[in-house]
Amino acid sequence: MEPAHRDLADSEERAVLLALIDQAYRQLPIALVVSLINALLLVGVLWGGIGNATLLIWLSCLVSVTAFRFLNLRAFLDPQRRAGVEAAVWRRNFIKGACAAGLVWGGAGIFLFHPSSLPHQVFLAFVLGGMVAGGVPLLSPLDRAYPCFAIPIVLPMTLSMVFVGDRVHLIMGLMILVFGIAMLSSSARVRDLFRDATDMRLKLASSMAEGSALQEMLRVDELTRIGNRRLFEEQLASEWKRADRAGSTLAVVSADVDHFKAYNDLYGHPAGDRCLVGVAQAMASALQRAGDAAARIGGEEFAFVLPQTSLLGAEQVAERIRRAVWDLNLPHAASPIAERVTVSLGVASSDHASVASPADLLRASDAALYEAKRRGRNQVATVAP
Ligand code: GH3
Ligand code: MG
Ligand code: MG
Repeated sequence: MEPAHRDLADSEERAVLLALIDQAYRQLPIALVVSLINALLLVGVLWGGIGNATLLIWLSCLVSVTAFRFLNLRAFLDPQRRAGVEAAVWRRNFIKGACAAGLVWGGAGIFLFHPSSLPHQVFLAFVLGGMVAGGVPLLSPLDRAYPCFAIPIVLPMTLSMVFVGDRVHLIMGLMILVFGIAMLSSSARVRDLFRDATDMRLKLASSMAEGSALQEMLRVDELTRIGNRRLFEEQLASEWKRADRAGSTLAVVSADVDHFKAYNDLYGHPAGDRCLVGVAQAMASALQRAGDAAARIGGEEFAFVLPQTSLLGAEQVAERIRRAVWDLNLPHAASPIAERVTVSLGVASSDHASVASPADLLRASDAALYEAKRRGRNQVATVAP
């Protein structure tokens, strides 16, 4: 693999690991609660049957391990402490917790094993079997956590049964062993499933993000970074429909840089490009409402969609745009109307009798722009009502 590809694969692998660690910890509360409840039930049932001191020592071991796992979980849930510690450490602590729990539950298989009462033995086997089975979904997200938990439980219980020596106990020991092996292989499957699902989820999320970034890029003008013609047309069409439904007024402003050919001729095309960037940014920042959209729809032509805006309101916005360009004070020595770069603007709104479609609206604002040019440029004109 090339280094760049390996880096990418490594970072994907890392993202999957982080997600799996997150999942393991999010499931940990269930494991802790079930572990505590089962321990109390076990001690309750065996109370009087096994030495009470043994029971209490075992219970305190289990409570200590649960407390360690709980504190680790709490640290993980604290964003600050979580960020300060490496993923490998969180993973190791999780596995340590699972191991410790496995050892304590495994200890139950030896120390809480009633030497002669079959019902007590069966109950113990039942509880331990439940712990081993319940651990599969809870501990499988992280490699090694489940075997570390299950093997220390299954082996002592099997041995306790085998050491009794009669046929029934031998068979029970064998059953527990077979059950343990089945759970181990099931856990390996569940682990792969978790890993694949996480991997797919992350890939899907990143490709969706890429897709929406691409969609956004398709609507941005490369030179000026404001909207492009496509964005303008989409905004115009959707805002037209919305205004139609809501019975509100939609306004459009068309703008065109004055004597821009002369600017290019005098300062050169690259300077012309830089001028367009400045003009576009100034125009876009003259818009104040979130729903307003600014776009470069041609070489030095711009257009603005202003939802819920009357002709009068749009005229004010257009004047603000004109003023913003004027205030840039970009020198334009070849302009016959001012020593600086200026724009002319035309305003139209959907209220106008001749406007029956988005295309009509744009045509009307273009006609107004033409009128502004005709009257001498560097000004705002509206379509005559
Ligand atoms: P008016 O005041 O009537 O608008 O005159 P004008 O010179 O601005 O209009 P005209 O349509 O004659 O010329 C527009 C010029 O804009 C032509 C071209 O040199 C320039 N232009 C168009 N697109 C770009 C561009 O992307 N970059 C640069 N630098 N110039 C452009
Ligand atoms: Mg033009
Ligand atoms: Mg022009």
